[in-house]
Amino acid sequence: MSLSVVTFTERGKYLALDLGGTNFRVLVVKIRTGMRNSVRMYNKIYAIPLEIMQGTGEELFDHIVQCISDFLDYMGMKNTRLPLGFTFSFPCNQTGIDKGDLVSWTKGFKATDCEGYDVVDLLREAIKRRNEFDLDIVAIVNDTVGTMMTCAYEDPKCQIGLIAGTGSNVCYMEEMNNIEFVEGDEGQMCVNTEWGGFGENDNTEDIRTRYDREVDGGSLNPGKQRFEKMTSGMYLGEIVRQILIDLTKRGLLFRGRITERLKTKGIFETKFLSQIESDRLALLQVRSILQSLGLDSTCDDSIIVKEVCGAVSRRAAQLCGAGMAAVVDKIRENRGLDHLEITVGVDGTLYKLHPHFSTILKDTVRELAPNCKVDFILSEDGSGKGAALITAVMLTLGFFKG
Ligand code: ADP
Ligand code: MG
Repeated sequence: MSLSVVTFTERGKYLALDLGGTNFRVLVVKIRTGMRNSVRMYNKIYAIPLEIMQGTGEELFDHIVQCISDFLDYMGMKNTRLPLGFTFSFPCNQTGIDKGDLVSWTKGFKATDCEGYDVVDLLREAIKRRNEFDLDIVAIVNDTVGTMMTCAYEDPKCQIGLIAGTGSNVCYMEEMNNIEFVEGDEGQMCVNTEWGGFGENDNTEDIRTRYDREVDGGSLNPGKQRFEKMTSGMYLGEIVRQILIDLTKRGLLFRGRITERLKTKGIFETKFLSQIESDRLALLQVRSILQSLGLDSTCDDSIIVKEVCGAVSRRAAQLCGAGMAAVVDKIRENRGLDHLEITVGVDGTLYKLHPHFSTILKDTVRELAPNCKVDFILSEDGSGKGAALITAVMLTLGFFKG
């Protein structure tokens, strides 16, 4: 899809779903045109209980439809048949704007009977089962694409979308003549790199550590998403915990005592890295954070833990930066340019809230791709808004015949 199709003439009310991370969100997006184009959103967050994330596909999609139903009630919109855009942040084989076969679940999801199936069909079937309201599912969108589109709505130089949240991924606009499996040489097309899966063919083994292998082995999808497991919010805390266990085993930390607490998977969330690495935090405060996690630490322990957190988050930011540098420099090369100016639309809590991640990422890109000037802009809620924007564009262009 060419970005130039965003013509600033689309308007109306759209429903959007954002599924793929910690929170499931349902949104109504109102797009108005006029002197200033404006996009207004109303959204509600719903929890997806663990047993549903990892239950049957039918239960998962029934739950999603239940949440949509609740949201429509809440908004007083049960009787309006709205067009819907579905942000679905998992690797899909997308064969049409409203067709995406799930390749494999990632992150915390593992519902049965979904892989290999068109998730739009699964959603349509669940809506039918409930038999309570109608929706026109117009588009399925990856969160990177939604983020890029949302930023491109305001900045036409935005041709890359980056997610650094629960997972890690990038999409970018590629010249059609570089895409072999699609006919035609005109214009551009959006490529979802699914870079989280980088390394599945062993080509990152020389930079993976035994801690990465531990984290991978204990995950829901061993062997898969190896790059994601070194770079994204779902895993950084767990890498830190593996290192702390090892240092403790060697007698370098926590007086050599491996407590039940330290052995508990998931106690060390990535948000604690952000807190511990904050520049304004005194060591005593690091100690109290560790204490609140049930880890008794000395002053030396606190210094070491802070050092470990820094190493893990720095590596993550540098790896994302290296990946981004490769993408922008490839774009530059493919366009036959000496110099490229391009904007990246970014979404994700790791990028937004970690005290150093974004700075290190940008520094790395500058260093590794010196012929590119890369601007990063935050997309406020791009993952959700983008699906609605794409839905709006599809309807305006008459691509969708309901
Ligand atoms: P999504 O699940 O759609 O990716 P977010 O972009 O909000 O949603 O990312 C959520 C992830 O961000 C969580 O899984 C967590 O690992 C991480 N996270 C949450 N709070 C922080 C924080 N303060 N600093 C760094 N990472 C965080
Ligand atoms: Mg998201």
